[in-house]
Amino acid sequence: MDKTLHPVTLDRDLCTGCTTCVKRCPTEAIRVRNKHAIILHDRCIVCSECIRLCPAHAKKAQVDKLADALAAHPYTVALVPPVLYAQFSGLRDRNIALTALLQLGFHAVFEVAEAAEAISAATQEAYQSGALDTPLISSSCPTVRRIIRARFPSLLSSLLPFHSPMELAARAARQRAAEATGLPPGDIGCVYLSPCPAAAAEMCDPLCCDSSAVSAVVSIAELYPRLLTQIKKVTQPQILATASPRGIGWGVSGGESRASFEHVAYLAGDGMENILQTLENVENQQFSTVKFYEFSPCTAGCAGGALTVENPFIARTRLSRIMAHPTELAPHAPIDPALLRWERHMAPAPVLRLGGSIADAMAKLRRIQEQENRFIGMDCGACGAPSCHALAEDIVEGMANEDQCIFLMREKLQKRLYGRQSDL
Ligand code: SF4
Ligand code: SF4
Repeated sequence: MDKTLHPVTLDRDLCTGCTTCVKRCPTEAIRVRNKHAIILHDRCIVCSECIRLCPAHAKKAQVDKLADALAAHPYTVALVPPVLYAQFSGLRDRNIALTALLQLGFHAVFEVAEAAEAISAATQEAYQSGALDTPLISSSCPTVRRIIRARFPSLLSSLLPFHSPMELAARAARQRAAEATGLPPGDIGCVYLSPCPAAAAEMCDPLCCDSSAVSAVVSIAELYPRLLTQIKKVTQPQILATASPRGIGWGVSGGESRASFEHVAYLAGDGMENILQTLENVENQQFSTVKFYEFSPCTAGCAGGALTVENPFIARTRLSRIMAHPTELAPHAPIDPALLRWERHMAPAPVLRLGGSIADAMAKLRRIQEQENRFIGMDCGACGAPSCHALAEDIVEGMANEDQCIFLMREKLQKRLYGRQSDL
């Protein structure tokens, strides 16, 4: 995967310019210009909404190919999220899927749920010792972190300052593999088997450390057919699992809350529109008793990721059955707690950059307001921007012009042709 490319891309040949995606993007990161969508990458939070909704299937996730990921290092560890198991009907023993991954060419496997458990334990400890102020917001989803820094920067200080399970798993897996093999860490690849393209964004641009320990992100959708075939061939599974049901439960919405804050008031929400609404409530301090918030932009949590193959609700039910199944665990050393914490705090990344000084920002806001006042306020989307306000911002930023508003255009034409204003 070319790490300079954005994880969400557009196939221009497929795009019909219908504007479905423009209206649903939570950070107004899409415009339609010249009958084709354009993604404003610095605004995109890699939520996958446009990938899911595009009727023409023109939006694509850009992740690594399995063959490239396996060939890139002498020794390769698969980082296995809980939701991978839930893609396979009838699978109960995780060791079967883990053994099949070794047979596909991975040298070792690491359950991301083991890292999730370590985060839950550290969260509990920090909460009980009073080391963390509440309310806290889960930082495990890369898209949630990006939403908060773009739209709710006042909540940045509430984010739990621990790496995501994917990042922690990569760090711990590389350390464990280096100790087991004697190989230098640079020879060990850590490949995340991902339910969503947000993991690729996190690998290429980690927000809380200088560089990610993840070397490649492969989609569950690409892996699925090969792994399904291989799972059917496993007769004698090796004992490779290391995580308990507590960590496996993180694969669905509410799993982290149950594992970390079982006896404390928490709120777990999923679905993009629901979580945006709830984040507004949190920002306005509307829930005084809640100590922990867990948000999943995808329906049902990672089970609803855009790169999975199974229906999210079926996947959620399967995961409960997998959790209830007694699985034999391999002995393993605990994850080094020194790997857990962020290396730096996140800075806000407002969707609209207003200018260097307060005076510049105020001047720009005024120009946007003046420009917006010239529009009729229907938010029709015919201009290719999600709202009249967004078109006003684009004009002030030099990215669009007034003639893109069909109503102003009609007015201009009527004036020119008949010398009078439109009735609108
Ligand atoms: S939803 Fe967006 S990407 Fe898909 S066809 Fe319509 S404008 Fe193009
Ligand atoms: S992935 Fe989400 S934030 Fe990015 S362009 Fe698509 S809808 Fe917008």
